[in-house]
Amino acid sequence: MRVSRRSFVGSALAGSTALLTARGLEAATWDPSGSLPSMFDRNGVIALNSNENPYGPARAAIDAFAKAYDVANRYPAKTEDALREAIAARHGVKPENVLVGCGSGETLKMATEAYTSDSRHLVTASPTFEQPATAMQRLGRPIKASNVDSGLGLDLNAMENDSANAGLVFLCNPNNPTGTVHSLRDVLSFIERVNRKSPGTMILVDEAYFEYVDHPDYGTAIPAALANKSILVARTFSKVFGLAGMRVGYGIAHADVVAKLAPWRVQNGISQLSIAAAVASANLTEHVKTQQKLNNEARAYARKAMNDAGFKTLPSHTNFIMSDIKRDPKAFQDLMLTKGVAVGRPFPPLKTHARISIGTVDEMHKAMPIILNALKSA
Ligand code: PMP
Repeated sequence: MRVSRRSFVGSALAGSTALLTARGLEAATWDPSGSLPSMFDRNGVIALNSNENPYGPARAAIDAFAKAYDVANRYPAKTEDALREAIAARHGVKPENVLVGCGSGETLKMATEAYTSDSRHLVTASPTFEQPATAMQRLGRPIKASNVDSGLGLDLNAMENDSANAGLVFLCNPNNPTGTVHSLRDVLSFIERVNRKSPGTMILVDEAYFEYVDHPDYGTAIPAALANKSILVARTFSKVFGLAGMRVGYGIAHADVVAKLAPWRVQNGISQLSIAAAVASANLTEHVKTQQKLNNEARAYARKAMNDAGFKTLPSHTNFIMSDIKRDPKAFQDLMLTKGVAVGRPFPPLKTHARISIGTVDEMHKAMPIILNALKSA
């Protein structure tokens, strides 16, 4: 039978929608080792290596995504306005305060390129999310990085000292890969001190894991960013909203900061489908609560299992835990892969820590005995 282009697209859409719908709806019982088309097949490996949301997108996002095929032939400039409005409504800010991008990674890249130079360095931590530092390395621009402290938190005093004449300070809160948080009070006091020490320095507060934080003193720097042109807050749809593969993130800042950064974007860089999924996700409060609850349950289980077995794991405010496994994390990562569990890579300068992303509750009940057996026997 000859398949016209339109009917082929239609049937492909029907197939992928059904698959995604099943995954979104039945996420709590979905078995990643079950039979999936090869495009989605992870060969039965439990993926605890990339801090993704294992439950997938919300049903509303999947429906919106499927509908957006109708406008896939159109450039997304107009729909991007709808995305900025939806994000603005979510945070109670104006669309002019919102800079959208291809994942929050694009916000980080834009800020790094726009605010640093050969003579204005990046201040960052070690370990923290590397994207700003790797962008600097590519550009051959200077970096000052301070090690995390003994509690694996950012060393805010060292970062403040490093900030004199910096172009950009990258403050990852909660910090990936250590899972630690700093209180809003400490963040605001840090910003004030950096502002005083180095008035021209931009401070990028990365809140990618905001929704997973379980700490009474934590809070967003968004209100501060609206009032202070030296602050940019980065957020993403990749984590709690389960849209890592759709690539939608954003920055929130004073309108002048957004206007300065906007030209650094890839124009029309977010697809119609991704925009539709993000718009449909932006106002989902119950979905977020459910994801938080599921993550908390699996995280508490995994952390207790590691601590009970003698592998120190500090409280985490994210969808991963960082454990002292008392051995080389690369050898552990390789060994775990042979046993069907993918865990995080090494994060220097930490020499004996492994990052384990939080999977579904079922996945963690399968993976933790495998992980602990390997750790106990090796
Ligand atoms: N910031 C942090 C702290 C991250 O961990 C990540 C991805 N893991 C990102 C930003 C980038 O995420 P995305 O581009 O998917 O929004």
